[in-house]
Amino acid sequence: MTYDFDLFVIGAGSGGVRAARFAAGFGARVGVAESRYLGGTCVNVGCVPKKMLVYGAHFADDFEQAKGYGWSFGEAGFDWPTLIANKNREILRLNGIYRNLLVNSGVTVLESHAKLLDAQHVEVDGQRFSAKHILIATGGWPQIPDIPGREHAISSNEAFYLKALPKRVLVVGGGYIAVEFASIFHGMGAQTTLLYRRELFLRGFDGAVRRHLKEELERKGMDLQFNADIARIDKQADGSLAATLKDGRVLTADCVFYATGRRPMLDNLGLDNTGVKLDERGFIQVDERYQTSEPSIFAIGDVIGRVQLTPVALAEGMAVARQLFKPEEYRPVDYDHIPTAVFSLPNIGTVGLSEEDARARGHKVKLFESRFRALKLTLTEDQERTLMKLVVDADSDRVLGCHMVGPEAGEIVQGLAVALKAGATKQVFDETLGVHPTAAEEFVTMR
Ligand code: FAD
Ligand code: NDP
Repeated sequence: MTYDFDLFVIGAGSGGVRAARFAAGFGARVGVAESRYLGGTCVNVGCVPKKMLVYGAHFADDFEQAKGYGWSFGEAGFDWPTLIANKNREILRLNGIYRNLLVNSGVTVLESHAKLLDAQHVEVDGQRFSAKHILIATGGWPQIPDIPGREHAISSNEAFYLKALPKRVLVVGGGYIAVEFASIFHGMGAQTTLLYRRELFLRGFDGAVRRHLKEELERKGMDLQFNADIARIDKQADGSLAATLKDGRVLTADCVFYATGRRPMLDNLGLDNTGVKLDERGFIQVDERYQTSEPSIFAIGDVIGRVQLTPVALAEGMAVARQLFKPEEYRPVDYDHIPTAVFSLPNIGTVGLSEEDARARGHKVKLFESRFRALKLTLTEDQERTLMKLVVDADSDRVLGCHMVGPEAGEIVQGLAVALKAGATKQVFDETLGVHPTAAEEFVTMR
């Protein structure tokens, strides 16, 4: 039997583009369908524009700190539409780069919605294509709880295109997106309240990191309300929003931003025409090689709901391309030691186990912790403190986790991730020379 394609990829986001390009590079005939934007969430409404907004928000601190170094200038002004227009222009450029990357790799790009007709056929723009293998890489979509007045709330998708910076913002949620966007809005001068339903945000991160970020955000003047949640949202005559909390309090704002997790994007995908099964959370169920319950169909990235990060989707995409078309190079994805950063202000960087997870897994742990005011700040009024923490297995001396809250935490932790993957012990850290004077050197001088 001959097929139109050896591999048909649904979704040209982080995972889909990686799988399509590499499969084509291995000699496969590949088609990819993208219904919304080339590059997917990360490029269009995720990592990339988010980081630009974080950079934009950090200038508020930079300007204040500059005064301690002798700089003076008139009152700083900030224009949100300029930032958004510049960001949009860059994203358009990136969309073009993704299109060229795919086309130049020999991939057939169909910029339209794809629907599964059965285990080996898809429909795009009324055209039917057959494929030996199909890869679902359709990503996720923001999920807002079904409360009265939900239509007045926005998600990250809309936040990237707001016409003006709201004066008062309520951010709901306690994960990555909530703390990052609360930092963005606060940094740009909006009066920002973050509401989280439990005792302390960033569940799953090391306890010291969560407490340290709470202290830093509060010190900067952000209003953090834990054990708090919105019951309903009403639009008022003056256009503002009244959020009634479950405890009866009413908070007024110009924007209510929900960051309460992301569901798999399965809309009109035609899964019912196949034997693909979902797990108990509604994500596509796959085995350790990303094969669904329909043997010709694979799935990767956010739609399988394992770890919703771009480098993970990239690694999964690569794993599928290799196992199908270059099996001799197949290597399973290593889900241990996934480094990650939360681009709150200050940033969090982390790799490996939290103290809590290490103990729960039965490790006897030795802890090393350091809190300090960075050298750069000593000439300024800024009282921000950096946290660094190492979690070490007391029996083997192996470093199990590195955690940081402070400037450039993500940049610093990337290097440490290599050390952890290589199995470095605390002794190896101790015998490594520092780069002086840096904040990062603290990771090799903690005793
Ligand atoms: P996506 O990138 O979402 O791509 C899926 C693509 O499929 C989309 O383009 C979609 O339009 C398309 N599609 C869906 N259905 C169909 C269909 N039926 N037919 C055709 N096309 C279809 N991760 C990080 O590592 N670092 C970060 O800093 C970071 N920041 C983030 C900030 C925000 C605000 C958000 C929302 C996410 C962030 N992420 C970050 C997560 C990261 O964006 C995702 O993990 C990553 O994009 C997942 O890649 P994917 O390929 O699974 O899906
Ligand atoms: P997360 O899953 O990280 O966090 C969701 C938050 O919303 C949790 O605090 C959760 O609380 C809370 N929540 C869930 N449902 C409700 C509800 N019904 N009412 C009130 N609160 C609720 O999702 P995000 O939306 O922040 O981000 C999605 C994913 O995207 C992240 O997990 C991450 O993988 C990725 N991402 C990565 C970034 C990075 O690498 N820097 C940046 C942004 C996103 P609880 O703790 O109680 O469950």
